[in-house]
Amino acid sequence: MAVNGDWSDCGFLVLNAGSSSLKVALFAATGDEALLSGKVEKIGPDGVIQLKDAQGQALPVAEGVAEGDLGTHTGALMVVIRTIQRHFPALRLAAVGHRIVHGGPQFNAPLVITPDVMRTLEALAPFAPLHQPHNLAGVRAAMAAFPGVPQVACFDTAFHRDQPFVNDTFGLPSRYYEQGVRRYGFHGLSYEYITGQMRQLAPQLAAGRVVVAHLGNGASMCAVHDGRAVASSMGFSPLDGLAMGTRCGQIDPGVLLYMLDQEKLSSAEIARVLYHESGLLGLSELSNDMRTLEAAGTPQAQRAIDYFVMRAQRELGALAAQLGGLDALVFSGGIGENSVLIRARICERLGWMGIELDPARNAEHATWISAEQARTAVLVVRTHEELVIARSVRAVVGMA
Ligand code: ADP
Repeated sequence: MAVNGDWSDCGFLVLNAGSSSLKVALFAATGDEALLSGKVEKIGPDGVIQLKDAQGQALPVAEGVAEGDLGTHTGALMVVIRTIQRHFPALRLAAVGHRIVHGGPQFNAPLVITPDVMRTLEALAPFAPLHQPHNLAGVRAAMAAFPGVPQVACFDTAFHRDQPFVNDTFGLPSRYYEQGVRRYGFHGLSYEYITGQMRQLAPQLAAGRVVVAHLGNGASMCAVHDGRAVASSMGFSPLDGLAMGTRCGQIDPGVLLYMLDQEKLSSAEIARVLYHESGLLGLSELSNDMRTLEAAGTPQAQRAIDYFVMRAQRELGALAAQLGGLDALVFSGGIGENSVLIRARICERLGWMGIELDPARNAEHATWISAEQARTAVLVVRTHEELVIARSVRAVVGMA
């Protein structure tokens, strides 16, 4: 920790622990550039680690890393820590920031993880069984590695917690709402970053009615008015709304009853279909990766793309209705930032919403891609969730 508020030799780590991956970024006490960033993928017997420095140059991992060290989250974190110690021997770690997918109804801002907070986060695991346990494994690994160092939780749900009741609830008996069965949203760290960027890029638009489309392997859209979330395409779980790489998106709950009653699938089997076998992969029977589908040119790949585009247009229309109109549409996430085709396809036939792309600017991945005369602005903004966590950590531990 800093002595007398002098943070000059301090740094802090940002961790994003998924089921089989650990993304990391190391920040100094000030500055937006990560000193080190990277990820461990396929945590297990075939674990792979890639770390780079602030200039994007590959950083060799610490010497003596043995096969099997990347077999668990804790092992992977230890390899990262030893690598940091090798390359930044004078740096003192003052805090660790964690991406936590679920903050439940109660947490609407980042906070230091106390034993009480940890218990609450563990109790929320049934709300996000495929994500929360891995996030918390990352917290435990960091607590074991850095006893006494503050661990800060930053929630993907927090950005959405102030949405009006009608966009927070389902049409179920009200006891479910009381139990916490609500529309939590997700991708909130990305939305927070993008609304912050919008305030800098276009303050007038940022004060207006904006839909942000975070289109990655996971995908959602959020309606934002004057920087505050109004409605999201994602609901109780990260399954709802848009079609995704392997997730189904919006579905009639009657289909789940059919799977249960007629196909006699167990809940685990249904979860596998909905989370891992659907979306772009399920429709194309080829890949969850949009680049692969764009290149494939097969009828089934085309159908998967058509469905992805249709769902995006429907959600956009619904969210614009919640805002009472639209001043700007912002594309983000791996697909939103990189796919000229998908941006063009989503925007085509939306002239009635004032949306009209400038094809040349779209092809150049310019920040502003709408046509000069268009009533509604369309932008591309590269998201940076780690930086949002970094800024929150600084604020929570008093570095900022
Ligand atoms: P995650 O949700 O896992 O963070 P990303 O935001 O990295 O995912 O997005 C991954 C998606 O972005 C994949 O479907 C990938 O194919 C897509 N993508 C990345 N680059 C391109 C590109 N140039 N053209 C089309 N799709 C792309």
